[in-house]
Amino acid sequence: MGTHLSATVTEGRAFMQVIDGRQADALSGKRIDVFCPSDGKAFASIPAAGRSDVDLAVTAARRAFDEGPWSRMSAIERGRCLTRLFQLVEKHGDELAALESRDTGKPIRQGKADVLGAMRYYEFYGGACDKVHGDTIPFLDGYTALTLREPHGVVAGIIPWNYPLQILGRVAGAALAMGNTLVVKPSEDASLTSIRIAELALEAGFPEGVFNVVTGYGSDAGAALSAHPLVDYVTFTGSPLTGTAIQQAAALNNRGVTMELGGKSPQIVFADADIDAALPVLVNAIIQNGGQTCSAGSRVLIERPIYEEVASKLAERFSKLVAGPHEADLDLGALINPKQRERVRSMVAAAREAGVAVLAEGAIHPDALREGYYHRPVLFGSVDPSAEIAREEVFGPVLALFPFESEEEAVRLANGTEFGLVAGVWTRDGARQHRVAKRVRAGQVFVNSYGAGGGIELPFGGFKKSGHGREKGFEALYDMSATKTIVFNHG
Ligand code: NAD
Repeated sequence: MGTHLSATVTEGRAFMQVIDGRQADALSGKRIDVFCPSDGKAFASIPAAGRSDVDLAVTAARRAFDEGPWSRMSAIERGRCLTRLFQLVEKHGDELAALESRDTGKPIRQGKADVLGAMRYYEFYGGACDKVHGDTIPFLDGYTALTLREPHGVVAGIIPWNYPLQILGRVAGAALAMGNTLVVKPSEDASLTSIRIAELALEAGFPEGVFNVVTGYGSDAGAALSAHPLVDYVTFTGSPLTGTAIQQAAALNNRGVTMELGGKSPQIVFADADIDAALPVLVNAIIQNGGQTCSAGSRVLIERPIYEEVASKLAERFSKLVAGPHEADLDLGALINPKQRERVRSMVAAAREAGVAVLAEGAIHPDALREGYYHRPVLFGSVDPSAEIAREEVFGPVLALFPFESEEEAVRLANGTEFGLVAGVWTRDGARQHRVAKRVRAGQVFVNSYGAGGGIELPFGGFKKSGHGREKGFEALYDMSATKTIVFNHG
């Protein structure tokens, strides 16, 4: 790469896209200011890519796939590229964590955890590259039939602002491991670490055009990318509405998609549960990243005999939670942007007006600037399952509690939203653990634990409105490739 960027986040820095192995501004020269959610101040800018910029990136990825050394590289060599990227992410870990925290407002502790997550993706998929293989199939006499797993070609990854480092790792790790080339469009609200990772990928030895990042608005760059006829497969994480638009765009080219569209994930706490073990996990599952987590545990269903006890213990913990600037490393940071804060505010106000009981509220640190996008944590009790906060993703630090009378009712409530991403089951009864885990319709079920976002090895994805396709683990390698069947007639 011609001009290599310094590792520090200098004030007012004009970040560049990475297209075909080079830094690239938007062809129009237009830029988007990057605001820090902690203080609402602009500290950098990114290119506002349009259709022509996307075309350049996709054409580069197409060429790199069709002609470049990448498509002829052995799985072992691809794995080594990913492993070198893992090592570079580790080496630049502090810089990446600081950049991610400033760009998204998340506490620095969470920024560091996200770096570890990103590292694990490149490490895991670096090691997995040469371990994916096809089958030989018993067929007719005189024939041998076998299958190969082949890359789709050019993969477009459209990713959100909540965990850019980790979600990029999940998309890029699996897509590149299978030999695809990649064009990523991060969120206009959080693009900086994606740019840095694409720069590091060049340093790691990925050939030009294999790992491209275009930045810009969803309605321009995102829409152009998802509709581009030279893209072979689209993977998206974000809101259901945008997911529908992207699927419609990809459908015009009859391309495959993976959709990760959020959730309204329940944790079910039975009366025999180890409450002390559950409490910190229940709180963390909604407070981590300010509740801006697709797999946030945003509903807690509590068996009636322990409802009051668990509700009051959760209230005690909620009332001690404090939101503040990312550098202060408090329980949670600011929300990503004013629009998101407004969404959370209006959903909380609607619930209050409808008479839903507020059991506790956390605080905003007195030193937090008024210009930051903070929202205090809110705990709602005895929520009506038909209420908006019981059904819709808030994507903020808002937890809803529901009492239940029986296992039957718990399962009905757990399955009673349009989503089905993750669930938690808290009970000491082994038979019940198995029964409930099977009956809850969610892509992941945790028993006596909860993994909001973690577990690179664990297949992840939704049922119902939470989306389709699977990411993480080996499953993602199947999503990021297609089976080719070859039949030999040898008589
Ligand atoms: P979004 O779904 O609109 O944005 C996600 C990504 O899609 C971004 O990169 C964006 O630029 C891009 N995009 C937007 N419109 C597009 C289009 N027409 N074509 C192609 N790409 C497009 O999410 P948002 O507006 O930032 O947030 C809205 C809500 O989405 C949140 O309140 C939250 O409920 C949900 N959300 C969920 C997740 C998740 O991980 N599941 C992540 C972020 C947001």
